[in-house]
Amino acid sequence: MKNKTTIFSKNLFPFLAACTIVVFSACSTLMGGIGGDQQVPSDYPPYPEIDNTPVSFNILQMNDVYEIAPLEKGKVGGMARVATFRNQLLDENYNLMTVLAGDFLSPSLLGTMKYEGKSIKGRQMVEVMNALGVGLVAYGNHEFDVKETELQQRMDESYFDWLGTNVLHQKGNKIEPFYKESYDYKYFAPETYVWEIENYNGKPVRVGFYSATINDNQQPWVYYEDPYQEATKAYLELVQNCDVIVALTHLEIGQDMKLAALLPKTKLIMGGHEHENSLDTIGNVVIAKADANAKTVWVHRFTYYPDTKITSLESELVPITDEIEADPDVDEIVQRWQEVLTQQIKTVVDDPNQVIYHAKTPLDGREKSVRNFQTNLAGTIAAGMAASAKKPVDAAFFNGGSIRLDDQLVGDITAVDVFRALPFGGGIYEVELKGNVLKKALDAGMENKGLGGYLQWFNIEFNESSKSWKVAGKPLSDSKIYRIMVSQYVFEGKESRLDFFNQKNFIKWETAKEGDEKDLRSDIRKAVINYMKGLRQ
Ligand SMILES: [Zn+2]
Repeated sequence: MKNKTTIFSKNLFPFLAACTIVVFSACSTLMGGIGGDQQVPSDYPPYPEIDNTPVSFNILQMNDVYEIAPLEKGKVGGMARVATFRNQLLDENYNLMTVLAGDFLSPSLLGTMKYEGKSIKGRQMVEVMNALGVGLVAYGNHEFDVKETELQQRMDESYFDWLGTNVLHQKGNKIEPFYKESYDYKYFAPETYVWEIENYNGKPVRVGFYSATINDNQQPWVYYEDPYQEATKAYLELVQNCDVIVALTHLEIGQDMKLAALLPKTKLIMGGHEHENSLDTIGNVVIAKADANAKTVWVHRFTYYPDTKITSLESELVPITDEIEADPDVDEIVQRWQEVLTQQIKTVVDDPNQVIYHAKTPLDGREKSVRNFQTNLAGTIAAGMAASAKKPVDAAFFNGGSIRLDDQLVGDITAVDVFRALPFGGGIYEVELKGNVLKKALDAGMENKGLGGYLQWFNIEFNESSKSWKVAGKPLSDSKIYRIMVSQYVFEGKESRLDFFNQKNFIKWETAKEGDEKDLRSDIRKAVINYMKGLRQ
């Protein structure tokens, strides 16, 4: 596969010369023992004739960004603020690459909504990333949540490059790289990417990137190769012709560490997938992850010394807060999409930004949690479902996968937060069924542990050692008739292992009448918002 090369044009020469000198002298004190025989000239001539001039360059790293607007009542995150910060970095050193280490097309509340007759599905993110100046991305597992055609549209819309070292497009029997199409020309996602930075004496420094993506989002149209094997192949190629090697990955931290041990000349692995910031070192390889949703970003400042071939690296974690002003151009795009969001939420609740609850303990809506154990956020949702019943019910449950927040909620919670947690909405059903059917459904939910079909419940207990169930405080009886609240997705038997859960196996069922917006059962979000408002603060 061909490499993608970016070369700065010659007319930037005087500017680059100036900024290289400035950054070098600023960094020289940090250099300490690295390349100890390095002489730092006190007086640079404007156009020095010496070769081997150190070259400085920066990489701005984000990962796992789903929200374009600030979060936590506007205090943290926000892509317009990242844009302002990026402009400051450009003033510091024009040799800047902005990267996003996967997970941005999904999930988000806005992404699930429709605009101009089509599902938005990450279109808002690509538009913002284009305006912000993102240069390179790796594929994350969430890039394959959207449909094949939707990913193609997003790739075609993007101005940035996509690096797919172990990710390929399965088209029937054919396996080929993903591409983006522009003016009838297909740009195939490369396996390696080389950023060529021109030194001011004309000698370029080549920064090689490889990537690796976790293979846990299986789709018939996505072909995953082994991440270690493919990264190794890419690395061996880059070692031959690059001065500095970095990786842009979307793996679990343990996998990144394994990769670091395997490919020790990698200077830096910029990763994602985990949502909390981290900085680790394996041998000489640094592994950095930022907080999700641009609550923080990493700035990696490199200086390459051609004579010793040594690279110095200083990584700085920068919080993105309301102390950074929003860039007006990017903010205009963010505001336009926020308006689309507000208008759509208003079709379900009157005041999207009203504070409905104050959470002192974080409410856990992280994917890893809601698919594996009962969480406080899921319990609140299930309790809200039960509270919306017309006749008292014994219990309530829904599929954990319908929570798409992949985050925790803390402090003031608004109706918008409930929509973010449950972007797909759907009705709630009051179902009467026999204990043996209920038991089969609950057992299936347990078997779905780790998957979206793991059930989250209210008024149900499971005894791990005896594998037995209690409903409304009493052991589940096969012959007893139970009245249970379930979400629409579960009611329709759409969840894996729950296809038997359908109207043939119910004694009775009812839900909100078509068009009866006042009935809380018409939308799970409405029921949950109403329930949370009534909770003691
Ligand atoms: Zn991920």
